[in-house]
Amino acid sequence: MNNRVADPIQPPSPIAAGLACRCPRCGKGKLFQGFLTLRPRCEACGLDYSFADAGDGPAVFVILFAGFIVVFLALIVEFAYQPPFWLHALLWGPLILIVTLGPLRPFKGVLITLQYHHDAAEGRLDRTGRQP
Ligand SMILES: [Zn+2]
Repeated sequence: MNNRVADPIQPPSPIAAGLACRCPRCGKGKLFQGFLTLRPRCEACGLDYSFADAGDGPAVFVILFAGFIVVFLALIVEFAYQPPFWLHALLWGPLILIVTLGPLRPFKGVLITLQYHHDAAEGRLDRTGRQP
């Protein structure tokens, strides 16, 4: 399922196309139809997005990134000012929403465009018995 071999279109940078949530082949069509739901195909070049499967990758990276930021800031504020717990909840609740939901969509876009760029797919067993 390599649908980029005989492709006359010059592909865009996978990072730039992913961050812009655009098609990995033409860089013009939109990748998502909802917040994180993929379109069935590119509206500009017709690329079938069925190859795309980022799995839990975007969420894992965003959780690690957001967890580091929020816990680091919460520890600094706690050690410097010892505020009441309600103030911690008031500060870090909205920040958690911003640092998790904000980068989730572009990060999923980058993983999908990198998957297309490197022609990555789920591992399969070769049942023909041939040696590679
Ligand atoms: Zn396209």
